[in-house]
Amino acid sequence: MALTAMDIFKLLPRTNCRDCGQATCLAFAMQIAQKRAKLEDCPHVSEEAMAALGAAAAPPIVLVTIGTGDKKIEVGNETQMFRHDEKFHHPCGVAVRVSDTLDEAALAAKIETVNSLTFVRVGLDIAVDLIAIDNESGDAARFATAAKAAADTCRCAIILMSGSPEAMKAAAEPIKDHRPLLYAATTENVEAMAAVAKELGCPLAVAGDGLEAVAALTEKAKAAGVEQMMIDPGLPDIKTGLHNLTMTRRAALKKQFRPLGYPPIAVVEADDPTDELLLATTYLLKYAGIVVIRGDRPAEILPLLTARMNIYTDPQKPIQVEPKLYAVGEPDENAPVMFTTNFSLTYYSVEGEVEASRVPSYILAVDTEGTSVLTAYSGDKLTEKTVKDALDRSGVEGKVKHRKLIIPGYVAVLSGKIEEATGWEVLVGPKEASFIPKFLQQVWSQQ
Ligand code: SF4
Repeated sequence: MALTAMDIFKLLPRTNCRDCGQATCLAFAMQIAQKRAKLEDCPHVSEEAMAALGAAAAPPIVLVTIGTGDKKIEVGNETQMFRHDEKFHHPCGVAVRVSDTLDEAALAAKIETVNSLTFVRVGLDIAVDLIAIDNESGDAARFATAAKAAADTCRCAIILMSGSPEAMKAAAEPIKDHRPLLYAATTENVEAMAAVAKELGCPLAVAGDGLEAVAALTEKAKAAGVEQMMIDPGLPDIKTGLHNLTMTRRAALKKQFRPLGYPPIAVVEADDPTDELLLATTYLLKYAGIVVIRGDRPAEILPLLTARMNIYTDPQKPIQVEPKLYAVGEPDENAPVMFTTNFSLTYYSVEGEVEASRVPSYILAVDTEGTSVLTAYSGDKLTEKTVKDALDRSGVEGKVKHRKLIIPGYVAVLSGKIEEATGWEVLVGPKEASFIPKFLQQVWSQQ
């Protein structure tokens, strides 16, 4: 269980020397209890107290690092059961599983496919993070060759999948500087697999049939000196899988049960691509740190990455674009000028339709703190004043010779006030972005 401020206070020197920046040791203890200060900020704390406090102050779910440099991915260190209670911190990694039975050319093509799985959504880059090399061949040399190819040519972090400690060592040792995740230690091989992970300094995944089995495995691996672990508590069907993943999170956060305080990894097994996607999305939402799938088509990957983007967005901070004037195409002095809000989803919906219209235009993104048109209007963040301020700051007056402003159809009610405040003639545009091309081609062209 987490220590209270008073528990922490009893372990401090209690000299009130202020070297930590706090007025008293008790104030410092309260800061620690609220996770606003670090123990290291007190230079006088004893080693004994450091050990006791350090263990208690450790995050309930370990932060696990896989890969290095540009390929590094961190998972775990989550603190909430539900995103709306605060936010989720480290997005679930998405891994594509690749068999080591592929010949050299097929393997290279597969790695290239994985490399290509990057997308831009609402102005942000989203991509597959990991490649999981599966020792399906059972051959250590073949496994090592595939692992080396992935290390040399894949932009992603690496998971090595094998039940053989010997094959695992053969594949992991030459690429240990890439810090691959070793999957998996099981009841049968945990001592040997933990020894490989410890020797090579790699994170280790343990896989067991249920929570008790996994907890026993993490204890054994930890006793062998492995700190960075992920857990696979078994996903025999969606109901059991969801239950197991939920209970690991609950045990770690609510009970501070350290043997399950590691991010889960979900290796999805399904013959049908749609089933695989549904399972992977379910586990991604609750509460996998990594999901591993075989599907590598954009149609399978993009929905998964989109779900991840949605669940790992901070609910307090909507995704926003910079509030400013954007040029779509090469607009001239006769180009239409329209505004929308700086909520990314709204802005990019409008921008996409303007692009599709092939009418070069200016879009003014009004700062509404990342809210959509109607939300901003009802919250008084989209008013004639905010529109006027945005127009004035944008410099659009010097770019076009007309004074006509297209406004979103949902705020037609603001027409008169905007005309009065800005001096621009208002044209009420469509309510839905999908009607923008028709509006620009048929209505604007008549202006
Ligand atoms: S530095 Fe340590 S001993 Fe000094 S006031 Fe802070 S907590 Fe107390």
